[in-house]
Amino acid sequence: MWLRPDAITVWRNPEVVRRLSWYRSVMLDEKPAKFMICKHVGLDEDPSCLKEMREPELWSLHDRLAQELRKAHESIREGSLSLKELEKPRLDFLRLKAELAERMLRSCRFCVRRCGVDRTSGQKGFCGLGREARVSTWFHHYGEEAPLLGGGGHPVGGSGTIFFTSCNLRCVFCVAPESMVILDTWVAKPLADVKVGDKILSVSFPAKPKKQLKLTFVKVLAKFMRKAEVYRVRTTKGDIILTAEHPILDYRRRWLAIDPPRAPVKATLMKEGMVVRFTVKPESFVEDEDYMRGYLTGAIKGDGTMTFYTVRHGGRSYVYPYFNFVVKDSEFLNTVRKYLALLGVPLETKNVNFGNSIKKGLVSTKWDVFHRIEELTEPRKSLSWYRGFLAGFFDAEGSLSGRALRIPNKDEDLLDMACKGLDLLGIPYVYECYENRLNSIRIGRGEHIAKFFMRTHPKISRKLYGLVGRAILTTAIIEDIELLGEMPVFNLETENNIFICEGFITHNCQNHDISFYPENGVVVDDRKLAAIEATLRREGAANINLVGGEPTPNLHVILASLVRLNVNVPILWNSNMLCSPEAMRLLVDVVDIWLPDFKFGNNCCADRLTAGGIDYVGTVLANLKLAQENGDMIIRHLVMPNHVECCTKPVLDMIARELDKDRLLVNIMGQYRPEHLVARWPEKWPDIARRPNAQEMHEAFDYARELGILFEPVS
Ligand code: SF4
Repeated sequence: MWLRPDAITVWRNPEVVRRLSWYRSVMLDEKPAKFMICKHVGLDEDPSCLKEMREPELWSLHDRLAQELRKAHESIREGSLSLKELEKPRLDFLRLKAELAERMLRSCRFCVRRCGVDRTSGQKGFCGLGREARVSTWFHHYGEEAPLLGGGGHPVGGSGTIFFTSCNLRCVFCVAPESMVILDTWVAKPLADVKVGDKILSVSFPAKPKKQLKLTFVKVLAKFMRKAEVYRVRTTKGDIILTAEHPILDYRRRWLAIDPPRAPVKATLMKEGMVVRFTVKPESFVEDEDYMRGYLTGAIKGDGTMTFYTVRHGGRSYVYPYFNFVVKDSEFLNTVRKYLALLGVPLETKNVNFGNSIKKGLVSTKWDVFHRIEELTEPRKSLSWYRGFLAGFFDAEGSLSGRALRIPNKDEDLLDMACKGLDLLGIPYVYECYENRLNSIRIGRGEHIAKFFMRTHPKISRKLYGLVGRAILTTAIIEDIELLGEMPVFNLETENNIFICEGFITHNCQNHDISFYPENGVVVDDRKLAAIEATLRREGAANINLVGGEPTPNLHVILASLVRLNVNVPILWNSNMLCSPEAMRLLVDVVDIWLPDFKFGNNCCADRLTAGGIDYVGTVLANLKLAQENGDMIIRHLVMPNHVECCTKPVLDMIARELDKDRLLVNIMGQYRPEHLVARWPEKWPDIARRPNAQEMHEAFDYARELGILFEPVS
């Protein structure tokens, strides 16, 4: 254990003592925690009667008892009442809350996502949790804000942190936001841009251990952001930035992690010199105008028709142009139509009569359209044009069957152009010449085909899925592991719990842990959780810090554990505050101190940098107001570069104007540290491609000072 001297000195600040007075008095055991008071409010009824009551009746009883609780709490706070003076009812308020949480679990609406799934029957909502609560770790945390570590008369025993694997952290997959994954279109994307529902590259483990791992695509089920300490693992094939608990696969199919005990699967300690599995390095490029022109050239010269026909009328001949592009793949047709429209040739899809069949396609007999398409399909010399040309040519003429990708054609000029493009892109191929068959280009090795897809972006899915089931596995040697510090990281949850990130095979889910390595998973019920809480307090923890990820999806087990807990300790809710109004009603009477994150000052930034899809600002602000009326509070705000005007200042404004700023503390944090963003995705992440600079931090501090917000003791 190490001591944080500020845990002692912070309590010399009278404002800290005043603003955190309730929390401090519970920490020092001078007052009972609110959950203890809840146990002394209730009815003289048999608790079994709760089971017979309907939910509306339970809520109405809840609201009545909440009034009583608040009166008792106020009297205890003022010192006019002590807990000993209150009788212990047979049916206490806390049991009622636990029963309500159980009822809510049947149609889950613990958080603002309001999934409505029946988690009691194993259904899972957005957070992916069923009935069980899972704890990845619990410990005495000495990295939290100084007042949360103890001191002021209490031993500096740290914050008794219980880390739930839930909404934000059910999968312990945390890597830097710019780390690349590969979508099922073979477009590489940074994790920060991946959306729920996207399909990304992964591997499947064969039933027989000696068989190869096979490439597959898996759906992203959830994505979350959190802040964590990260490491850069440098290998002979490239780097990956990840958290200490995050495992990657080695060549012997063992999971390696920097901190194996915290890994979600049975893992071995990662060290320099170890050999890990490697697949393909994600690569990306921007599809610009030259790319579209190249694509149209490959597609139209491969599968289109551009010709002339003559009409005789009144003894004279009239020549008309004729363009058609009729293909069976709608993705191909739509791409050509889209690119033509973007480049100034809007054409409607029409039914084209082929005598014995009618197909959909693009048709025009207009000279201006014809001339424009001729101009658009003129060869260019840029790399981007060749990328597009190869994609369009492959979509028109290519196939991926058996073990090779082939593009046959009778036009030698087109094949020459394709060869030149492949040379420029550095993709190995074979030019096959036949006497009785069309000459063709062949790309045989899986990793070369993957590179072809990533460097050209063909559009027809059935062809792009041709690599599923193939094994593309090489190895890389770990050269160096370096601690980078704390920064925002992303969690993804996928269908099979595994996916490929930066070319490395990574594991991401507690489910796999529980089902395959049960000794590593900790499923906690109310009894076990109460035992953890009691142990942490007895060992000197200043509080019980309920955190994740997000503790909210575990509300039913948390409330039930407090029913069992008979040790006085402040309850700290360390949350993103996206709880539903009903969850807040249950929480406000048991939480002694709130430690909410308030990151984004507007919903646009929140949508861009999180899983999105919710009214972030509205929800958090409403919950903060409710929380402040019912407990002490330290709000955390992470300053991000270029987000001072749009996020930091609006957040501080809301704290100053919408909340009672004189009764709370704000931790203005400057730990944001992006890596490699400018080099890799300058156009995607220009705003957060660096640390916040000193000027931005000063601006944030000055603004907070101007607004009269107290932040110095905890920032
Ligand atoms: S906790 Fe939230 S995300 Fe999870 S199932 Fe319930 S409502 Fe959905």
